[in-house]
Amino acid sequence: MNGGESLARGTREGPSDDMGKEGVHLVEIIPKDLRRREDESSVRLPPYAPNQVIRLERVHKVYNTGEVEVHALRGVSLVIERGEFVAIMGPSGSGKSTLMNVLGCLDRPTRGRYFLEGVDVSTLSKNELADIRNRRIGFVFQAFNLVPRTSALENVELPLLYAGVPAKERLQRAREALAAVGLADKEKSFPNQLSGGQQQRVAIARALVNNPSIILADEPTGNLDSRTSVEVMEIFQRLNRERNLTIIIVTHEHDIAQYAKRIILFRDGRVRHDVPVEAPREAREILAGLPPEEEEADEYEDLGYLESGLPGLGTK
Ligand code: ADP
Ligand code: MG
Repeated sequence: MNGGESLARGTREGPSDDMGKEGVHLVEIIPKDLRRREDESSVRLPPYAPNQVIRLERVHKVYNTGEVEVHALRGVSLVIERGEFVAIMGPSGSGKSTLMNVLGCLDRPTRGRYFLEGVDVSTLSKNELADIRNRRIGFVFQAFNLVPRTSALENVELPLLYAGVPAKERLQRAREALAAVGLADKEKSFPNQLSGGQQQRVAIARALVNNPSIILADEPTGNLDSRTSVEVMEIFQRLNRERNLTIIIVTHEHDIAQYAKRIILFRDGRVRHDVPVEAPREAREILAGLPPEEEEADEYEDLGYLESGLPGLGTK
């Protein structure tokens, strides 16, 4: 967001490099406690505007585990606007999942404020948080987290069931969501009859079905081979483009991050880089250039027919 450098080219070490030698020296003579405050406020946020889906103001998260305090987020300030596609990167332990938990209203900041579509989430009760989470946020996880022995369609229907949507509408919306990820023909398949990529697409359909404002995906391609990863990124790019859906993914793979429009790099609980991707990769084009798909998907299908033909293993 700041400046035009791309992460692929840049190896700069944070804002202090901009200041030159004198600047660095100045920072060093500022007393430590003041320095920390300076660091926190060094990201100047634009004033609030309605297109800011996410606005974090100096968010801290401290985990208290008995004797040890872990300061997982240390004054994170950032704005994400509607229709952005952001990749969060950073080494293990840098606070990426903690950030996702805060963004997804699974956890509240210890300090600082989080506005989700203009609503200060830190003031909400547990019930209100759960409600906002169900209505506004779709989660996709590395491990898919589908319910076993439950059809793809029923998995996608689950969030609607929790939201109290009537059966007929549930069915219709779940079918639409499955079709949107290209799995209209897999409604009745159980998770174990689907490939990893297909399971993740069911999970994306489930995340979509409530018509959320944001999709949060923590390492969504972490368990997938490279072709399937590109297929998943193609779906995210399409949803981002066609529905203006705001998408935030965590990934440690540089080539996956290049499908996003913006990369935010975390280190030690702080934003270290926040840069636009100048020419994001086009998943659709890359898929078209890959060798034809192997027969893997068909094998799973055959297994499906086999199982449904056996007593006790059929669809319910
Ligand atoms: P990342 O996803 O970037 O690997 P995390 O957000 O999971 O990082 O973790 C950031 C820091 O917070 C780490 O030091 C981690 O050990 C700690 N942490 C994460 N979750 C908890 C928790 N529930 N309780 C205590 N410490 C935690
Ligand atoms: Mg993590």
